[in-house]
Amino acid sequence: MIQADDPYGAVLAARASTISSACVHAGEAPDPVTRALEVPLVLSNAFEFDSGDTAEAAFRGEKGVYIYGRWGNPSVAALEAKLAVLEGAEAACVAASGMAAISGTILAFCAEGSHVVAPRSLYGESARLFRERLPRFGITATFVDATEPEAYARAVRPETRILYMETPANPNLAITDIERVVGLAMGRGLLTILDNTFATPFAQTPLALGVDIVIHSMTKALSGHGDAIGGVVLGGKSDVARVHDTVVKGLGGALSPFNAFLIARGLRTFALRQRQACETAALLARRLSGHPAVERVHHPSLRSDPGHEVASRQMHAYGSILSFELKETSARSALELARRLPEGLRLIRHAVSLGDVRSLLIHPASTTHSTMPKEDRALAKIPDGLVRLSVGIESADDLWQDLRRGLE
Ligand code: PLP
Repeated sequence: MIQADDPYGAVLAARASTISSACVHAGEAPDPVTRALEVPLVLSNAFEFDSGDTAEAAFRGEKGVYIYGRWGNPSVAALEAKLAVLEGAEAACVAASGMAAISGTILAFCAEGSHVVAPRSLYGESARLFRERLPRFGITATFVDATEPEAYARAVRPETRILYMETPANPNLAITDIERVVGLAMGRGLLTILDNTFATPFAQTPLALGVDIVIHSMTKALSGHGDAIGGVVLGGKSDVARVHDTVVKGLGGALSPFNAFLIARGLRTFALRQRQACETAALLARRLSGHPAVERVHHPSLRSDPGHEVASRQMHAYGSILSFELKETSARSALELARRLPEGLRLIRHAVSLGDVRSLLIHPASTTHSTMPKEDRALAKIPDGLVRLSVGIESADDLWQDLRRGLE
C-alpha cells in the first residue's frame, strides 16, 4: 500500500530498509569446512554417497543429500533460499530462464484439454506460448483485458485450470487488480499464476495477496547486471516441488550454478538499485508527461494513469519501468518517430531486456512484440508509437537530458 500523502522518496527508503538485510544475508551461511563467507560456487555434476544405504535413501527422496547437478546443487539452493525470503514464499525453484519457468509451470499444472485465461497485454514470448505453442499439446487460452477482472470471470470454462496475470504488464504497464482475480479463482478451484518480473519483489509481493504461484525472469532486475539468464517459480512447498519435478528434473531446464552465483551476487544490492531506479522512473514519468513530443506516459506513479489507484493499493512501489507514446507530427508518423528515438540517445542504450543497472530503451511493436499480430497488438493496447524505458541507476538528471536530446 502506498499512501498518497507520503513523499515517494520516504516510501522507497522504507521499502528498501525492510528487505535490504535479507538481500545481503538470506540463504547464506559460512561454509562449514572453509568458513568462507561467500557461498561457494560448486560446479560438480555429481555428488559422492558415503554408503549404499545413503544412495538408496537419496533416490527414495528420503535424505537431504545432493545427487546430480540437474536435480540440485548447493549454489543453486542458496539462491533459492534467498529468493524465497524476499518474495515471502514457502519455497522457490530456479530455472534456466524466465521462459523455462513460465512454460514449465504451465505444463506442470495442465494436461491435454486444459484451458488458461491470460491477459492480452503480456511479454511477447509468453503470448506466443499461449497462442501458438501450447495449443499443439491441446492446452488452449482465452486472452482478456486484464484491467477488467470481470473479463477473467466471463472467460472461465469448466476445463479452465489457471488464471494467469502479468501486472504491471509488458510493455504498456497495464495494472490488474490482483485480489479481485484471486477472489474469482478461490471458489472455483483455479490456480493463480502471476509473472512479477516488471514489479520485482521490491515493488510487489503477490503471494501476500493470495496468488498461488509467482514467477520472475531473474534475467532482469533480480540479477540486475545484464550478465545472467535465469527464472524462478515461488509458492507453497507442494506446488514448487511439482514445478521442480517437471521443469528442472523432467524437462531439464536447470539453472547453471555459475548463473546462480552471479544472480545471488546481484541480489545483494537489489534493494539499493531498486530504490534509486524506482525514484528516477517516477521523476522521468512526470517530466515526460509535460514534454510536447510525448502523447501519453504509462506509469502507475502518475495520478492520471488508469492503474494508479489499484497499484497504490497492491504495490509497495511503482516500479522502475515506464513506457510512453510519441505524438505524430505533420512530417512523421508516431511509428517512425518511436523507431528512430534510440538513434538520438547517447546514455540510454538501445536494447531489449530490462531491470539492468544501465537504462535500456526499446520499441516493442517492431521488436519484442513484433510476432504478435497487428490486430492483437491493437486489442492489447500496444500502439505503434509506444517505446518502453527500463530505468537504471544512472543520474536522473543525465537520463532526463538524454531523453530531451532524443525527443528533440
Ligand atoms: N516475463 C517478462 C515480463 C519478460 O519481460 C521476459 C523477458 O523479457 C520474460 C518473462 C522471459 O524471461 P527470460 O528472457 O529470462 O526467459
